[in-house]
Amino acid sequence: MSITSIEKTDIPVYSIPQQISLLEKLSKNLWWSWNHHAQNIFAELSPRLWSRYNHNPILVMHNISKDELTAVLSDNVFASKVNDVLHGFETYLSDQNTWADNHASEFKPNPVVYFSAEFGLHECLPIYSGGLGILAGDHIKSASDLGINFIGVTLFYREGYFNQLISNEGWQQEEYTLYDPEKMPMHPILDEQGNPVTVSVEIGHSVVDVVAWEIPVGRARLILLDTNLDSNEGHYRDITCHVYGGDSTTRINQEIILGIGGTRMIEKLGIVPKVYHMNEGHSAFLTLELLARELKQGKSLEKGIESVKSQCVFTTHTPVPAGHDRFTEDLMDYSLAKYAKSINLKFEYLMNLGREHKDNADDLFTMTVLCLHMSRKANGVSELNGEIARGMWTHLYPGQEVPIGHVTNGIHVKSWITDRTETFWSRYTDFDLDFITDPEKMKETLDKISDSELWSLRYRLKRDLIEYVRHKLENQKSVFASELSIPHFDILSTDALTIGFARRFATYKRAPLIFSDIDRIAGIINNADRPVQIIFSGKAHPRDNGGKKFIQKIISIARMPQFFGKIIFLENYDINIARHLISGVDVWLNNPLRPLEASGTSGEKIIANCGLNFSILDGWWREGYNGENGWAIGKDENISDQEQQTKLDALNLYETLENEVVPTYYNRDENNIPKAWIQKVRASLMSLLHQYNTHRMVQDYCLNYYKDA
Ligand SMILES: *Cc1c(COP(=O)(O)O)cnc(C)c1O
Repeated sequence: MSITSIEKTDIPVYSIPQQISLLEKLSKNLWWSWNHHAQNIFAELSPRLWSRYNHNPILVMHNISKDELTAVLSDNVFASKVNDVLHGFETYLSDQNTWADNHASEFKPNPVVYFSAEFGLHECLPIYSGGLGILAGDHIKSASDLGINFIGVTLFYREGYFNQLISNEGWQQEEYTLYDPEKMPMHPILDEQGNPVTVSVEIGHSVVDVVAWEIPVGRARLILLDTNLDSNEGHYRDITCHVYGGDSTTRINQEIILGIGGTRMIEKLGIVPKVYHMNEGHSAFLTLELLARELKQGKSLEKGIESVKSQCVFTTHTPVPAGHDRFTEDLMDYSLAKYAKSINLKFEYLMNLGREHKDNADDLFTMTVLCLHMSRKANGVSELNGEIARGMWTHLYPGQEVPIGHVTNGIHVKSWITDRTETFWSRYTDFDLDFITDPEKMKETLDKISDSELWSLRYRLKRDLIEYVRHKLENQKSVFASELSIPHFDILSTDALTIGFARRFATYKRAPLIFSDIDRIAGIINNADRPVQIIFSGKAHPRDNGGKKFIQKIISIARMPQFFGKIIFLENYDINIARHLISGVDVWLNNPLRPLEASGTSGEKIIANCGLNFSILDGWWREGYNGENGWAIGKDENISDQEQQTKLDALNLYETLENEVVPTYYNRDENNIPKAWIQKVRASLMSLLHQYNTHRMVQDYCLNYYKDA
């Protein structure tokens, strides 16, 4: 923490009324979500509300009277903690010597505006479904830390993503909660008269009104668009109801609101962006709105497109043609003909901007194609993903080099270390872990830490996780058949090698791969001298029956007597469960069908928590793995026969687990320390931490994509 390095005497002492008003301000700025001291203050104010409402400080502040706050802040010890945090917050907001002040000052007057259909910022804001959203959330947090003038744009999904419940049959059930924006860390964007700032967008034969909410994220802002207004027809009010909800009509409507509505809102707010960054193709329609502006100024189409291109960059993720958003000509015509007319663009011309083959009436409108046509630069999210994308779109660039590079994804380190991990590191370092750019610096730090200290941290983190899982299972009946119950202390063991697997249950991620041979995995798990246990979590998309079957399969295995308390499935995966898992498990398993994992980021979250990766050589791990810093599954090659590849991967997974992972964990010295294991943890920290974080990633975007080519 930077706070510790400041002389105590430099810190202003805020009066109690000042503290109360600053606490209100703090509760509404997501800065608290990556500051444990701030979180601890809200937790201390109301422990029960804090845990019951998914760590939402607004609800804590709503439920505490000024009288109570005044009384509590009269306690000198507590008040001094609060004072330190508030000072840290104010210092953060007013810092004029950030990375961007020194390296990217051209964005000061004109921000980078980043469009994403989802943002994963914190568990109390369920406006994300998986890795794409977490990436956006971590991106905006790092942009704030680096001091880049940065604005995110997304939708406010008032029923969020679904809550997952597992039935007695092990089948995923979806339930939606109606969220009250008043009780979330966001506020409406109002004009000077106090009225909501409103823009409208032509959709189909109607005109849909859009208002906006704002979430301050440190120094950055996130703007959330919302169509839930009395002035809109019922079905248009529901456009922004669910994350990726409904059919392709809802989908195109969401994307019109995001792209066109978002661009209009940005303009209405007087913001003049330097760069528009599209995170995946969902926001592609924003380029049409930018083109409309150019045409209005009298530019030709050609000149107009040149100008739009100079303002846009695009990040593509999906490595299979079928995964990209595509719309039929009929749907495009129904939804966008009126809009096209309003901006004087011939509908046929618009269709061609999104067709893979010009004038081919059979071609669907592909959002990615529109993005590629209208962006100055594009990138995949890992080296292999960039290569796959270049191959996939090569026909769009006959005789030319495909202008798609890559920026490997990272994670925002501070958001993914627990309080315990952060305290541990702060004993040995006086710098922020996410600012490490130099492996030497990590080495200097590690030289100060003994093997037994690292091992002790690992044990404590695992204990924290197991306590959390046991507590959670009290409210989750699905793991064990109702007629069978086992005592709590028989669920999981702190001494057993613990593997974690959690992410969206998209079928290419092959969650049940480790159960390909039940007898073999039973042998590994139930080895009395070298026990292994596995914790799973994850949601399948509501319409993905294949993913739901995978969940059902894992639940049915977890219920088999030989796996009781050793294989766990945690319901309702979210950022909170993720944080517990990635900090507590010894090994993080990822076994996607290569090359379908665009980057993957969850494995990057365990590095600073001193866990180890065990993964297919796909996405980021293909670049990060060096033979010493974890384990690989399979080879650095693609096999075209998917069934064959899955067989080989399963065999390799078992062999590596039996011959390397398990023995390394259980091979102990005279002090019961697994020396070789700890050596791998050190190698992981030294080789990976400085690379696979969003500070590095956002700097890369800034210097190589946002700045003029
Ligand atoms: C990190 C994270 C993901 C992304 O996981 P991958 O393994 O990279 O797909 C998805 N969901 C949540 C809640 C996460 O925290």
